[in-house]
Amino acid sequence: MANQNSDCQSCSEKDKGTCDPKSCSGIQKLPQSKGNNIKQVIAVMSGKGGVGKSSISSLLATSLAKQGHKVGILDADITGPSIPKMFGINDRPVSNGEALLPIWSKRLNIKIMSLNLLIDNEDDPVIWRGPILSGAVKQFWTDVAWGDLDYMIVDLPPGTGDVPLTVMQSIPLTGVVIVSSPQDLANMIVRKAIKLVAMEKVPIIGLVENMSGVICPHCGEKIDIFGESKAEQAARLADIPLLKVLPIDPKLSKLCDQGEVEKYDQVFDDLKPFLKTGKVG
Ligand code: ADP
Repeated sequence: MANQNSDCQSCSEKDKGTCDPKSCSGIQKLPQSKGNNIKQVIAVMSGKGGVGKSSISSLLATSLAKQGHKVGILDADITGPSIPKMFGINDRPVSNGEALLPIWSKRLNIKIMSLNLLIDNEDDPVIWRGPILSGAVKQFWTDVAWGDLDYMIVDLPPGTGDVPLTVMQSIPLTGVVIVSSPQDLANMIVRKAIKLVAMEKVPIIGLVENMSGVICPHCGEKIDIFGESKAEQAARLADIPLLKVLPIDPKLSKLCDQGEVEKYDQVFDDLKPFLKTGKVG
């Protein structure tokens, strides 16, 4: 029995001697289902809602797809799912007898699964308690025929509640991308999120600061409506890479509202360097 720490006592890997104390959270992750071969799983997290987490999840997915990768999005924001709307899809997923088939996006063939695709009316609220929400997310991992994917993006609900915890503890994540906005409040809350990810021993891929000012369309001057960017300072303090600083862009919100986020620019470059150097918290 090699490499065990106190967390390993509850880990089902412990008798196999394969447990690595640096990455072990003491809980066994859910294996991939038969027929699924998902190489990298990236969760997108924010301390609070409205900072553009789902938009960043969509832009990560579209950027990677534009680079030629096979990409899927697991919408784990069960009570506030916005991914299908951003991609303009509303088809109902069907089963192949063994698993649910994800819906393919129109332009870039991104495979998408979201609770909003499974309910009768997209504006019906989902009134479920934490354990049921967590169960639904686990089923999106185990009971969906994702097939071969280079990257799966998991759009988490905001905050540090049941579902983000379940995802970090049960899905074998490559790492987490943290989204913040320049307000002080958002920054304080993002530090909580960073600490939680570190406590769960999941690598942090990097920080994205969204809604970082707006560029005046007339004079090109940047107006910091939420205050000056705190991205560099926040990333330095947490010792994580700063992946991107994105301004408010009316074109992005318009395309999201029209269900055409796939038409937006390729915002993210290849993530590979960050995946290699992703800091294990
Ligand atoms: P969250 O998932 O954090 O709740 P969303 O991604 O749903 O936030 O974004 C909230 C709203 O803000 C959406 O209407 C989205 O189109 C818009 N939005 C997000 N980021 C930007 C941006 N950089 N520029 C313009 N609009 C944005």
